[in-house]
Amino acid sequence: MNLVYIGLGSNMDDRARNIRTAIEHMRNSKGLKVLRVSSFYRTEPMGYEDQDWFLNAAVELQTSLLPFQVLELLQSIEQKMERSTPVKWGPRNIDLDILFFGDKIVEEPDLTIPHPLVEQRRFVLEPLVELAPNGIHPIHKKTFQELLDELGNAQKVEKIQGDS
Ligand code: ATP
Ligand code: CA
Ligand code: CA
Repeated sequence: MNLVYIGLGSNMDDRARNIRTAIEHMRNSKGLKVLRVSSFYRTEPMGYEDQDWFLNAAVELQTSLLPFQVLELLQSIEQKMERSTPVKWGPRNIDLDILFFGDKIVEEPDLTIPHPLVEQRRFVLEPLVELAPNGIHPIHKKTFQELLDELGNAQKVEKIQGDS
């Protein structure tokens, strides 16, 4: 069994609904056990800035599947939700990334774990730290909280209060 963290993002149409739908699909996926879901966060776009703010969240799940099997499941959820990605890092209705997979390190052409940009992205670290401040990055050997503290708050990220 591995404890796995998934990063979710959406900046098209009804963002909260897209994220909830993706989580529902994860709950219904054989082999994935969703344990906890973070709050939702409104986040400033990075990389390609001429687009709407994103909504981001993180999910903690347990699985005995292999990393590639989880990637395949996440991609099938993205496809079911008819994800469209006309622009690299541009608008999309749903994006599901594997952030951490226990303490595994995977370096394959189609799969890098931990996700290589985690430590540069406040929109990933804020929801992750909410779930697991003491989680350890297996390469940097730092806690998620330490990574967030080092990154600082240049990127705007707002936790959405109330029932998300
Ligand atoms: P970024 O990875 O910088 O967040 P992105 O999410 O916009 O960019 P996508 O177009 O969604 O990138 O994915 C491109 C490819 O990334 C996928 O086809 C997948 O094979 C690969 N990939 C590599 N590592 C991971 C990972 N940890 N989680 C999800 N996809 C990954
Ligand atoms: Ca992504
Ligand atoms: Ca992705």
